[in-house]
Amino acid sequence: MRTDLYIGGAWTPASSGGRFPVGNPATEEVICEVADGAAEDVDRAVAAAHACFESDGWRRLAPRQRGAMLGRAADILESRLDEFARLETLHNGKPLFESKIDVAMTVETLRYYAGWADKITGDTLPVAPGFFTYTLKEPVGVVGAIVPWNFPLNLASWKVAPALAAGCTVVLKPASETPLTALLFAEVAEAAGFPAGAFNVVAGGGRTAGAALVRHPDVDKIAFTGSTEVGRTIMRDAADTVKRVTLELGGKSPNIIFADADVAQAVRGAQTAIFYGKGEVCAAGSRLLVERKVHDQVVEDLAARAKKLVPGDPFDRNTRLGAVVSARQQATVLSYIEKGKAEGAELVAGGNGAKVNGKGFFVEATVFDRVRPDMTIAREEIFGPVLAVLAFDDVEEGIRLANQSMYGLAAGIWTKDIQKAHRVARAIRAGTVWINTYNFYDSAAPFGGYKASGFGRELGREALDGYLETKSVWVAL
Ligand code: NAD
Repeated sequence: MRTDLYIGGAWTPASSGGRFPVGNPATEEVICEVADGAAEDVDRAVAAAHACFESDGWRRLAPRQRGAMLGRAADILESRLDEFARLETLHNGKPLFESKIDVAMTVETLRYYAGWADKITGDTLPVAPGFFTYTLKEPVGVVGAIVPWNFPLNLASWKVAPALAAGCTVVLKPASETPLTALLFAEVAEAAGFPAGAFNVVAGGGRTAGAALVRHPDVDKIAFTGSTEVGRTIMRDAADTVKRVTLELGGKSPNIIFADADVAQAVRGAQTAIFYGKGEVCAAGSRLLVERKVHDQVVEDLAARAKKLVPGDPFDRNTRLGAVVSARQQATVLSYIEKGKAEGAELVAGGNGAKVNGKGFFVEATVFDRVRPDMTIAREEIFGPVLAVLAFDDVEEGIRLANQSMYGLAAGIWTKDIQKAHRVARAIRAGTVWINTYNFYDSAAPFGGYKASGFGRELGREALDGYLETKSVWVAL
């Protein structure tokens, strides 16, 4: 385990000497103490990243060499998949099989952007006669990557891989609940041959290390994933230095089951959409909109499934519902459950906190029926295993309810009618729409939000745009 900061190719304690505890949410035990980075450490890391960016050893390398390093990082991480997966489960509480998927996806993302490194091109432009005009794509510079605790390594790779492929250098600030895999990943970067300063990790608090990164004059871009509330603060803090900012924020994604769907398949999909990752998934299908004709059947089946989904030891291979990330998160989720009850929704499954072997911050798989759109549990992101079910009568009402949210991250549609599926997909204001499936991701498919779910896209070719400047060059002929 690595518990110091990784700055300029070296492991170092925090300048203050401070450390903070990292806990295992499934056992309530402290795993270790990690160096508590703050403004001075951010200064050191940004200086290292800046020096690397300005040197000949990084952005002026043949792009294929940068790609080769990313490819090597993918191979090394793949060879250490089990170790990283166990560590992810240890500090996050998610079932081990999910952590294995996360690390495998991280390997894919590194490999995908390894392939892009030597395929980033500008254009020649059809301007007025007498000129030869073209565009160059150049790296934006030093990137501050700030990530949350729900997919700690995977979401870091969504930023780090395209940034490095583009020729940027990176200072990564993991969430203070889950810094361990990000720190360990520095070993991978080092072994893959990245030069000192290309990739740095400063663990620490959001208001300290995170805010210092956002305000730093030598950081050119902030790539942030986290809550909408913190996203707003970051936008404001980034304004003084006119930083580039991309924000991947919260969601309250509608998952719509039409009466003509394969209902059994849709119910299984709805279950995964909300309970995978303990519901701590930004794109979780947390609002289930069900056409009234099949409503009773859907709710009955889903409640039966939820009741079988008992919280378990995340390291047990049969566990499908792990611990939520912290005592604080458990309290937040339980307070939303209380609000659901108080505002008149009908609790049909779960509703309680739980312990496994007498310990841990678990929450039962919870389903509320008869939710109205104005209720808190229909409007706010809960970020836990809590589903709100709303009924609708026709396609137009389904679309209206789906869009009745400040968020627009993702949506699901379950129907056998192909025309309806595509029509509804276009009508929904969200960055990802899944039809007859849910929660699928691929490095090639852009992901990101409409409305208060943020802006900018991660993954795919689009993600590279967030790490590149475009320069127009005019040559008089
Ligand atoms: P959070 O916003 O509390 O924290 C995210 C990160 O920001 C952490 O590293 C934190 O330390 C840091 N931070 C906090 N305050 C800061 C500040 N003032 N300046 C700079 N950095 C600061 O979010 P969280 O609770 O860790 O994660 C859950 C949230 O993330 C949910 O809202 C979820 O929807 C969102 N999320 C979005 C996506 C997406 O792709 N859109 C993916 C995963 C999670």
